[in-house]
Amino acid sequence: MNPQELVDYTKSLDCIHCGLCLRTCPTYQLTGAESSSPRGRIYLMRAVAEGELAATAPEYREELDFCLACRHCESVCPAGVRFGELIESARSGVEKVQRRGFLARTARRIGFGTVLRSRAWLSLTATSMRLAQRTGAARLLGKFGRPLVEMSPVPPKSERAPLPATTPAVGTRRGEVAMLEGCAMRELFGRVNRATVEVLTGIGFETKVPQGHVCCGALHAHNGDLEGARELARTTIEHFETTGAAPVVVNSAGCGAHMKAYAHLLKDDAAWRERAKAFAARVQDFSEFVAAEMPPDFSGKLGDELGILAYDDPCHLCHGQQIRAQPRTVLERCGATRVELPDSEACCGSAGIYSMLRPDDSKAVFAKKAAAFRNCGAQALVTANPGCHMQWEAGLAREGVKARVLHVAEVLAAALRKARAR
Ligand code: SF4
Ligand code: SF4
Repeated sequence: MNPQELVDYTKSLDCIHCGLCLRTCPTYQLTGAESSSPRGRIYLMRAVAEGELAATAPEYREELDFCLACRHCESVCPAGVRFGELIESARSGVEKVQRRGFLARTARRIGFGTVLRSRAWLSLTATSMRLAQRTGAARLLGKFGRPLVEMSPVPPKSERAPLPATTPAVGTRRGEVAMLEGCAMRELFGRVNRATVEVLTGIGFETKVPQGHVCCGALHAHNGDLEGARELARTTIEHFETTGAAPVVVNSAGCGAHMKAYAHLLKDDAAWRERAKAFAARVQDFSEFVAAEMPPDFSGKLGDELGILAYDDPCHLCHGQQIRAQPRTVLERCGATRVELPDSEACCGSAGIYSMLRPDDSKAVFAKKAAAFRNCGAQALVTANPGCHMQWEAGLAREGVKARVLHVAEVLAAALRKARAR
């Protein structure tokens, strides 16, 4: 195989080696090693493309796996290097030439090929996880059960019910939106999905949820399965085309960033290129949509009802979508008491399934975030991404910090409820 097909060589040439990204990179902060930095990884990718390093080298895959794909390096890069796209193509390349161990291969095949493509399998997986947590069986699984032991309880089936196909606007109808129900969101954060619908309909938008849709493919793309990601992108576009041209509201930062990039993902597919572009233009993060559409006369009086809040920027919202002000605007409009979390754009270590694949690295990255939260005077943490949500819940519990973790939609839903009750 031509080594230049294993990485995005052209994009890797954008790097001017300035090193400005090094201090923001969580893995470089952990090791101080150039090879664990964005610049170092780009060197490795180029070396593969230029035939100086074998793509089969174990140290090459190790550095690609070690990366959190947080894209913090993109935000500070003066040359506009698109590291997110580079790491996705490099991981896809390495999967073509390196064979993982039997267990990893099987887990990937089942996870990406079966579970994340079927609602029935997702539901069964969530039920099994809940059972393993409640019976203590997760503890018997040793290191394989550790993520289950440490994560928050998987909700009961009653909280994992599907959202209605259509929920009418409350009061005067101002328009309609389509909403991504999500794979993990429905199984683990049904309450956030319901709060999202409550807000959208509460501010006058009929909310449509395409039935039968399962997964947008973000986890596939981030983990080297670009073909799987393309298949799921086509399915996602088809499902949402049934909702006309309405904005597609997404309450999961990782999914939103990925869906906005469908045009890039399907750029070489002549049959889907234009459909992908049209679809991507409809996608909006929850805060992005709500900050623009909240009724101008709404003024929440939440105060510290949910505790003093601190907002942590999910990487795929701030670095992936350049959305920083909107969630803060929404929280301001709620009238919530809030403090800034220092270094809130630093990765929390969740990074999709990274926290399960590399729990020790993930915890080491989280340690700084826990210290920042402890020192900032907040009593509750607000996020906008399910992976970060789980990471914060598990991490704060592990550190002995008693604090709630909430999605922006949950805060706004509470503020709207309070305003209605006045
Ligand atoms: S994506 Fe994050 S972890 Fe990976 S190289 Fe960039 S800053 Fe480092
Ligand atoms: S900041 Fe950008 S150009 Fe500079 S070393 Fe990092 S990736 Fe390369």
